[in-house]
Amino acid sequence: MHVKKVHIVSLGCPKNLVDSEVMAGVLAERGYLPTERPEEASIIMINTCAFILPAREEAIAEILRMAAWKQKGGGPCLRLVVTGCLPQRYGKELVDALPEVDLFLGTAEVPHIARHLDELFAIPKAGKYRRSAIGRPTFLMNADHRRLISTSANSAYIKIADGCSNHCSYCVIPSIRGKARSRAIDDILKEAEGLAAQGVRELIVIAQDTTAYGLDRKGKPTLSRLLRELVAIDGLSWIRLLYTYPARLTEELLQTIAEKKKICHYLDIPIQHSDDAILRAMYRRGDSALIRNAIAKAREIIPGVALRTSLIVGFPGETVRRFEKLLSFVREIRFDHLGVFPYSREDGTAAAAFPSRISKREKERRRNLIMEEQALISREINSALIGTRQEVLVEGKGELEGFTHIGRCRRQAPEIDGATHIRGGDPKTGVIVTCRIIGADDYDLFAEVL
Ligand code: SF4
Repeated sequence: MHVKKVHIVSLGCPKNLVDSEVMAGVLAERGYLPTERPEEASIIMINTCAFILPAREEAIAEILRMAAWKQKGGGPCLRLVVTGCLPQRYGKELVDALPEVDLFLGTAEVPHIARHLDELFAIPKAGKYRRSAIGRPTFLMNADHRRLISTSANSAYIKIADGCSNHCSYCVIPSIRGKARSRAIDDILKEAEGLAAQGVRELIVIAQDTTAYGLDRKGKPTLSRLLRELVAIDGLSWIRLLYTYPARLTEELLQTIAEKKKICHYLDIPIQHSDDAILRAMYRRGDSALIRNAIAKAREIIPGVALRTSLIVGFPGETVRRFEKLLSFVREIRFDHLGVFPYSREDGTAAAAFPSRISKREKERRRNLIMEEQALISREINSALIGTRQEVLVEGKGELEGFTHIGRCRRQAPEIDGATHIRGGDPKTGVIVTCRIIGADDYDLFAEVL
């Protein structure tokens, strides 16, 4: 029998990546073979993101690139399948606009991917069929879904919930991903044990809002309780928490992070803005005083904690004065890592109706001003680490002259933060070594193995 090979392109955030990994696992169980090489694939699957304009542009460009390649006859009996947030959001519009795509699947189809592909191959080439399956976004993965981990070097994401019930005024996620749905603690532990048994050393806890974990479940299990149970799993060395909501950073959670050695002293707190009027218009819970207080508490309870945040500039109503307040807030707080997004007006969100006169150019200018400021801050913070000892998870061979390996310390999350370049010894990929920091730049650290 001819084995069908699938090449999966995963776009967007780690939450989408986990869906891609589950689809790869479901397909592998049904005899499909994942491949890194599109030229040998029978199916090219693009798992898309539709969060903001640049993400949609990236997704459309990738679809068109693959469609052009397919039309030129690339690959054996090639089928092109588009999954995830883009079809979930644009449904029929997309189906009509992109006739080159054989099948569009919404976010609820993740566990049914093999059935859909089987059906697609059963259709005679010129046959008529429904080119889409886009239902309500209700899917929530569980530990019984086999997942093929695609991240490198013994690090894996664990998605503890899907959807979001926060309804920030600029955000389409609740309509694409549905209401917040948390997995049971036992189910998450079962998956985490399996990942640890596969050699995963760093577990990265994700959801749209990890601090909303459990609120939708009977008995309301807390994130803090989940973390306390995760640290008991043998084999895991680091546990990292992403996507926390400032208004839900409880003392109990901060204490847990401070007390449990396995949990990285690292917090990702996307605050979005610091001006009270803008925060209100964003429908965010809590004002700037609450955010300041949450950060001060985090620093008091977890001394030396590395903080990451993300911001939106150019939101409707962000006057120059309000923007300057945000810039001075960034100077005052001194986050370790920071990302800035120019506001993207998204149809179907409450903010889409807000009047705004801020040009694209002005949004870019504001973004650049914050990033320039942050580069100085990050360089100072990184320089202050010179001479300290840090654990580094080795991720592979080095890319810079004089540094044989590359990895990350507890202060650095994969993809979004910098890296640590190391030299000395011959550490294997996937091990954690103790290093002394010997140099720093805006984003990266340089270290010597002790
Ligand atoms: S917390 Fe707000 S920004 Fe984040 S996914 Fe939910 S609605 Fe969107």
